[in-house]
Amino acid sequence: MLNVIIFGAPGCGKGTQSALIIDKFKLKHFSTGEVLRKEIDNKTEIGVEADSYISRGQLVPDEMINKMVAQTVQSLNSTYNGIIFDGYPRTVKQAEELEKMMNEVGSSTHVLVELTVPDHELINRLLSRGLTSGRNDDNLEVISKRLEVYGAKTAPVIEFYKSLNKYVPIDGLGSIEEVNDRIVKAIDDLY
Ligand code: ADP
Repeated sequence: MLNVIIFGAPGCGKGTQSALIIDKFKLKHFSTGEVLRKEIDNKTEIGVEADSYISRGQLVPDEMINKMVAQTVQSLNSTYNGIIFDGYPRTVKQAEELEKMMNEVGSSTHVLVELTVPDHELINRLLSRGLTSGRNDDNLEVISKRLEVYGAKTAPVIEFYKSLNKYVPIDGLGSIEEVNDRIVKAIDDLY
């Protein structure tokens, strides 16, 4: 089993890198942001509620997220070697809950990979993504809020995984392939 948390501020490349890693390591890609955006597109009850947070750059409540995670963790079967968690956990409470859920199914997380990228580069990436993504949270006002929320609520998750000896920082600057090579090497080094 290989359960990886891909971590970092909005725009650091979590989604892009996850898509490459799932093929290489046969992992199930679980992006809480993607699941929420599908709910929004389908105008479900969850989607409507989630949109009211996402469009303001706020985190959606932990309880909503935990339900989605529990379903994913429990549905994992032998088609995959494990899960890549992308955009989750985003609070220390979510991290505690994740560890508990993994424990309950007799598994655990193995590594948290943080993609480090300076703020000015994150803002540039998100603004240019906003030109084509159609995401209503990729504009300067909401981006600033998302970065603020990241620093206040999400960054503390790093300390949590440091204390479990599972924290690996990776330089997120460079080409997609360069960053991918660094991540693959870091995962290979675990074994
Ligand atoms: P990004 O990393 O670029 O912000 P995501 O797709 O991961 O993009 O998340 C988009 C938004 O969805 C977040 O700003 C937040 O409002 C919501 N969201 C995603 N994952 C979580 C989570 N684990 N907990 C709370 N809110 C979340």
